[in-house]
Amino acid sequence: MAGRTLKTWVRIAAGAALAAVVAACAYNEELGRDQFSLIPGEQMASLGATAWSDVKSKERASTDPRYVSRLDRVAPKILRAAGEYPAQWEWRVFDSKDLNAFALPGNHFAVYTGLMDLMENDAQLATVVGHEVAHVRANHGGERVSQQLGTNVVLQGLQAAIGSGSQTGQIAVGALGLAGQYGVLLPFSRKHELEADRLGIVYMNRAGYDPNEALKFWTKMSSAGGQKPPEFLSTHPSDATRIAQIREIIATLPPRGQ
Ligand SMILES: [Zn+2]
Repeated sequence: MAGRTLKTWVRIAAGAALAAVVAACAYNEELGRDQFSLIPGEQMASLGATAWSDVKSKERASTDPRYVSRLDRVAPKILRAAGEYPAQWEWRVFDSKDLNAFALPGNHFAVYTGLMDLMENDAQLATVVGHEVAHVRANHGGERVSQQLGTNVVLQGLQAAIGSGSQTGQIAVGALGLAGQYGVLLPFSRKHELEADRLGIVYMNRAGYDPNEALKFWTKMSSAGGQKPPEFLSTHPSDATRIAQIREIIATLPPRGQ
């Protein structure tokens, strides 16, 4: 089924690219802007589900309640604040020292224990969950894959990989730019990161968490340095830009819980 899904996706992509069709621009209400989007939402969700299965088969899920209970407590609050139904989402804590977290289309996200070790409270975890949920709701994955298709890079890679019978899960992971260790790294753009920060802080504030904890968390991340994992430290917004924007957003938020 996964293979068929990917082939369908490639066919759609090939049709779009080869016919040089002018890309459809869709308005995203959450962002308040148009998005370049070649891939239908259902196809992105299938791609995300395939990548998620692949990652789950490779990473070790934490069963430590100090991590899992915290995420199980925070995630539903953020999701509801974002207008989502928690039952329609799946999340995991992965046991790894990586300072990382990621989200995939089709309502999946994960946080690594290494990143959670840096967090002092639930509000700082809410910062990260809000940011990841925002990437999904903003369809940043779809926009990024569409941008790649525009240059045929992902398309050619997919065709070659499917032609040689490679694992579809890895291809999906690569196409979504999930992580460097899977071979292909397509970081979110600076614009996407700043959008995810902005929406994430709105969600956490609405969920009743102190948005000033976002400021503390990102400040701490900026001094964590060292490793440069794909989602957080290697992304484009300079720490100073990110922190300045967070200050501005906090100043415009409604009272907490609203
Ligand atoms: Zn991000």
